[in-house]
Amino acid sequence: MSRFGTRRNFFERINMALTGFVFTRALPFQEAAATRQPLTGAVDYYDKLGVTKTINAAGTYTYLTGSTMPPSVQAAVALAAKHPVYLEDLQKAAGEYLARQLRCEAAMVTAGAASAITLATAACMTVANGSTASHAMPTDMIGLKNEVIVQRAHRYDYDHALRNCGIRFVDVETLQEYESAFTPNTVMCHFFNASEAGKISREDWIRVAQAHGVPCFNDAAADVPPISNLWNYTHMGFDLVAFSGGKGIRGPQNAGLLLGRKNLIGAATKNNSPFDDVLGRGMKVAKEQIVGMVAAVDWFLTQSDEEFEAEFRRRADRIAAALKDIPTLKSEIFIPPIANNVPHLLIRYDQQRVKISPKEVAKQMHAGTPSIELNPATGSTGGSAGIPNDANKIVVGVWMLEPGEDVIVARRLREVLTKATTG
Ligand SMILES: *Cc1c(COP(=O)(O)O)cnc(C)c1O
Repeated sequence: MSRFGTRRNFFERINMALTGFVFTRALPFQEAAATRQPLTGAVDYYDKLGVTKTINAAGTYTYLTGSTMPPSVQAAVALAAKHPVYLEDLQKAAGEYLARQLRCEAAMVTAGAASAITLATAACMTVANGSTASHAMPTDMIGLKNEVIVQRAHRYDYDHALRNCGIRFVDVETLQEYESAFTPNTVMCHFFNASEAGKISREDWIRVAQAHGVPCFNDAAADVPPISNLWNYTHMGFDLVAFSGGKGIRGPQNAGLLLGRKNLIGAATKNNSPFDDVLGRGMKVAKEQIVGMVAAVDWFLTQSDEEFEAEFRRRADRIAAALKDIPTLKSEIFIPPIANNVPHLLIRYDQQRVKISPKEVAKQMHAGTPSIELNPATGSTGGSAGIPNDANKIVVGVWMLEPGEDVIVARRLREVLTKATTG
């Protein structure tokens, strides 16, 4: 079975294209892809619970349960569920394997990137203060060094993941401010990899931190592909780097990676489950998710950036082609620069002719059958991750679609937009 579905799906699609059915007749939802094949005898608890299954034309968003695991990862998770093991043995073996695969000194599976940020901070705190800090954080901070230097522009929605450790942010803007921000209480320098603002480069950020002997962390949660980013940032000199498991790597949503220096990963491990009196105790990663994360990395490393891009462009082109005769409609392929760095389809039209707002299109796609989620930047002025910030646009994130689902998205978009078209 190929990564983009069964041969049968492939030939079905070719066949439909040849017979001109491609935009009027979709593959049945159930047949859309291998990822969605049910195990024999399995109860569909989404159906049982009455939870609507959606087609993800948005991207790797937490509220949409991130990505789906490829069949090989699903199978590894199911197998892991069958046997108990010593949790610490599994954590250690998984970390060592990941470090080899990802070309870094050490690695650990965390309960997501946010958890990796917290554990990285806890590691920096314990390296700076000694291991008693593990028990002290985050409430008994008297006498503990706890300053984390960050660019003001890198303060973000995940600040709390660091603040969980009782730290205090020291904000800087210029390189000069950064250089003079170090004190005996500095424990960590924090970097938000996908930030579109901030005057200080990664290289300068690392160089100055190293000169002061302070560990330097990079949050690159959503920043693969390219696949090589899994080692680019550690090789650049960041002491710790975090990735989300449930985004582009397509592992379990509640898994993530913390990669970096051996002593820091060791310290992070000691602040994590299965130890009880530490702040990571509630960030337990079960055996199924540890194995799922490792299997997802294995899957991801067999892929190629060129194939990813080519396939996502094909999907975007297919959707664009289905819409091209809608009056005034223009589409373009857009690749955000760092996070979600894959082709997205941007659609614009004159709302005097196609009398529906992008937000209303998203609403109707969501309410339709099957339910389809467009990218949240659709109709939004709060453009995120490099996506343009004007309200007059539909954004289709094609990378989390299963093979065949692009055709369904195209058909539904065409229906909704055609119905709203006058004259
Ligand atoms: C998604 C994201 C996170 C959180 O990742 P989880 O794996 O959901 O915990 C942290 N930082 C950034 C920049 C992200 O995009």
